[in-house]
Amino acid sequence: MPDQSEVTPPLVKIMGRLGSAKAYLIRDFLQRSDVPFEWIHLETDEQAQSCAGVAHCQDLRLPICLFPDGTRMECPSLRQLIKKLGWFHKPAHAEYDLAIYGAGPAGLSAAVYAASDGLKTVLIERSAVGGQAGSSSKIENYLGFPEGISGAELAERAREQACRFGVEVLLAREGVCTEFPPGKGIGYLADGARIVARASLCATGVEYRRLDLPDEKRFLGAGLYYGAGSSEAPLTKDEHVYIVGGGNSAGQAAMHFAPFARRVSMVVRDDSLRSTLSQYLIDRLYATPNVEMLTQTEVTGLEGDERLQAIILTHRETGEARKLDTHWLFVCIGGVPQTQWASEVGIVRDQGGYLVTGPDLLLGDRSPTDWPLDRDPYFLETSRPGVFAAGDVRHGSVKRCASAVGEGAMAVAFVHRYLESG
Ligand SMILES: Cc1cc2nc3c(=O)[nH]c(=O)nc-3n(C[C@H](O)[C@H](O)[C@H](O)COP(=O)(O)OP(=O)(O)OC[C@H]3O[C@@H](n4cnc5c(N)ncnc54)[C@H](O)[C@@H]3O)c2cc1C
Repeated sequence: MPDQSEVTPPLVKIMGRLGSAKAYLIRDFLQRSDVPFEWIHLETDEQAQSCAGVAHCQDLRLPICLFPDGTRMECPSLRQLIKKLGWFHKPAHAEYDLAIYGAGPAGLSAAVYAASDGLKTVLIERSAVGGQAGSSSKIENYLGFPEGISGAELAERAREQACRFGVEVLLAREGVCTEFPPGKGIGYLADGARIVARASLCATGVEYRRLDLPDEKRFLGAGLYYGAGSSEAPLTKDEHVYIVGGGNSAGQAAMHFAPFARRVSMVVRDDSLRSTLSQYLIDRLYATPNVEMLTQTEVTGLEGDERLQAIILTHRETGEARKLDTHWLFVCIGGVPQTQWASEVGIVRDQGGYLVTGPDLLLGDRSPTDWPLDRDPYFLETSRPGVFAAGDVRHGSVKRCASAVGEGAMAVAFVHRYLESG
């Protein structure tokens, strides 16, 4: 198998128009993957012709990506881009010791520990490595990085480390369902590939909760963004940016946009940030003159044509509604786990859809119904022997990078016990 850590990412030039959802997807992916890129904003048809060689700014071939080797890709999909970067691989083995779904901090950590222990390990990620952490502009409370580190850099370092130990990383692949013939698990990927493994680890984290507003889909990537949008900050020069959410991810996003944007408004449902935000971020936000807090406020409407032009904010107590012009709305309002596959195979979830593991599965001091073994489930084992969960997707997990990394490492210890026992 080729050493996947040796692929050096090139500088990619992306040309397109602002408000293009496809261009945003590409920028976001490259930013989270720590791949340097240059964004060229095409404002006029003349520019589109001279820079990008297309007829006009609305040309369907946009966005165009140019690579240093001269390759030109017109409106590429993420998978095509990943292939071009040399990161797209077919599963190399018919069977693995451990299949890990999700390459956020939990999955990456499990991959490093599993492969360094000699387990034949595959790591399956539907998008970019790093998960939520990869979208953070600066993680400041992760042990060992006193100046902080960007989530993308942390993730890229972890990816490289995993690859050095021989982990097979399958990007742009999404696990969709699973089945369990005796002694193994088979994961089916969205593209039809199948991954057979003796043990598996679900580290699929959470996905941002949606605003559920009319017309939301229309503006996705074209003014409305789920996540901290770290790739977008340089594009918001002299603009008014709105960030929805009162947690650390929203606070970090506000601090990241503040040096670029004219004004940054945090839209928060509660009446203060004290219960949801780390004190160090509260102090910084209040000390940054162009950041304001709009507490007890919700986004209740989106307006625009092809691109977001305005939002409606409503005060929760007074009901007063205001229309405010903006092209930039970033939503960081916590997440929900995507674990429908688990309920389809009878794996126990809690009411929120989080996977229940270990002692939390016990009914009094009895093993869960349908549990087939004499022993109780291991600490991070789900109600299906040999299927483990780590990180934010797990019931009762602490939603932090370090905890996810710790759980990923710990899960591997239980994977060993499981494999040795049977
Ligand atoms: C903007 C932001 C800033 C943050 N800042 C901090 C901070 O400063 N300090 C801190 O401690 N914590 C921070 N957090 C929280 C921290 O990032 C999370 O707790 C941590 O990333 C959880 O890791 P995880 O591996 O469990 O899940 P995730 O990071 O959510 O990763 C899950 C991965 O699984 C993938 N996936 C999902 N479904 C599938 C599937 N079916 N098939 C394949 N892959 C799949 C996803 O694409 C994703 O890459 C921040 C979070 C955000 C969003």
